[in-house]
Amino acid sequence: MPSLYQRLARHFPAPDRRFLETQDGTVMTYGDLEAETARIAGALVALGVAPGDRVAVQVQKSPRALCLYLACARAGAVYLPLNTAYTLAELAYFISDAEPVIVVCDPAAQAGIAALPEAAGVKSVQTLDADGNGSLADLAAGQPSEFEDVARDDDDLAAILYTSGTTGRSKGAMLTVGNLYSNSEVLAGYWGFTADDVLIHALPIYHTHGLFVATNVTLICGGTLFFLPKFDADVVLKLMPRATAMMGVPTFYTRLVDHPGLNRDVAKSMRLFVSGSAPLLAETHKAFKAKTGHRILERYGMTETNMNTSNPYDGERRAGTVGFPLPGVSLRIVDPDTGAERPRGEIGIIEVKGPNVFKGYWRMPEKTAAEFRDDGYFISGDVAFIDADGYVHIVGRDKDMIISGGFNVYPKEIEAEIDALDGVVESAVIGVPHRDFGEGVTAVVVADAGVAPDEGQVRDALKGLLAAYKVPKRVFFVPELPRNTMGKVQKNVLRDAYADTYSA
Ligand code: AMP
Repeated sequence: MPSLYQRLARHFPAPDRRFLETQDGTVMTYGDLEAETARIAGALVALGVAPGDRVAVQVQKSPRALCLYLACARAGAVYLPLNTAYTLAELAYFISDAEPVIVVCDPAAQAGIAALPEAAGVKSVQTLDADGNGSLADLAAGQPSEFEDVARDDDDLAAILYTSGTTGRSKGAMLTVGNLYSNSEVLAGYWGFTADDVLIHALPIYHTHGLFVATNVTLICGGTLFFLPKFDADVVLKLMPRATAMMGVPTFYTRLVDHPGLNRDVAKSMRLFVSGSAPLLAETHKAFKAKTGHRILERYGMTETNMNTSNPYDGERRAGTVGFPLPGVSLRIVDPDTGAERPRGEIGIIEVKGPNVFKGYWRMPEKTAAEFRDDGYFISGDVAFIDADGYVHIVGRDKDMIISGGFNVYPKEIEAEIDALDGVVESAVIGVPHRDFGEGVTAVVVADAGVAPDEGQVRDALKGLLAAYKVPKRVFFVPELPRNTMGKVQKNVLRDAYADTYSA
């Protein structure tokens, strides 16, 4: 069977067509891509990388870093991208767990990584900087611009992506060639991608969203990327009149909505805005529609499963929902304790099955077994319900569910009521230890400057809307909620910050 790269390359256009354009206007054609990935694949083999070997990569986003991912796909290696924010101590864990043959890092980190006792089995520590220069680039420059791809089966590993691990050790999700290829094929078809598409790519490439969804969907149809080192609303708005699509996390959209340059005219050539990785506020969806005429298309996925659901391309994109299961994906809502399927409209845990779902956690057979049902469904941990029209609504993560006085409380329900109050921008509801109730429902609110309600007003307003046990016992105001780079609210940080609220 062909390599992942060869499968994606089936629809590559003529070699002189643009694959990627950077912020400064540098163009990489499909011909350049073919040659560059061949040279890097040659360098990896020269360094001793064999099929199935892990190549750990912690580098800044650059076109050459993207080529490194595809070079691994050509050489049959397992690509292991690492968040650039990880410290040396954190890297030690990933290296000891994944046992990569090669580590590619920023030049500044090379000496530290090479000196780690955990790096004893690593054959070579290579460098690549933000401009794509470094020892790996030097080595690749001397390699041929043709490479014979290593054959891969659907079930062979293409990548290991470590989950962010807010509780316990970070787990390596093993993604196969079949997982990645099938998902990109489905998404490109569902969202109508063609060779004429020009996608604004401002996401990081160590995470499934920017690495696989945005990149593979563009490659598989032979489109073009505007490849930006990070999200910058000014830059994105400058490029938008020459683009057709963008994929982003909700924060991209809130920043664009706040920017005076966002209007119908600037978005005239755009046909699609996709949001995912964290919930998009219905308010952002509405504000974006009012300013541009575009309805953001929200989809839902996770590192372990690739993409699971999407709002329709043609048809109603419903704000506050993540749409329908994608073609080939089976999704059900179950009772977390019994595993029994819940009727339509009732809340439970999302379970999914399909060619998109990962093979398991690297070297963690027990953890893997615990998160799959006997009939092959993966237990996502996301709490959701399906409405009468089939749209999936995510209401939170199971670990975010609060149990107060024996009652289950879903934070999203309370957050929605708080967010609807005048003067509130957004909120996060958490459970923190409470001597009488087990957990006390606690709200952390970001208010508008000027017209903000106070704690008493928020509680009074909620008393008329929600059962008493759901009304937050305390309401705190903060200038902004803590978020990670993918825009997810870090509830664990809030739980720690307010842990002593009821113990005093
Ligand atoms: P990650 O593995 O970092 O991609 O995180 C996956 C998690 O992000 C999912 O399990 C969901 O909890 C959350 N997530 C992703 N997309 C959405 C979305 N559109 N709405 C709400 N939560 C989402």
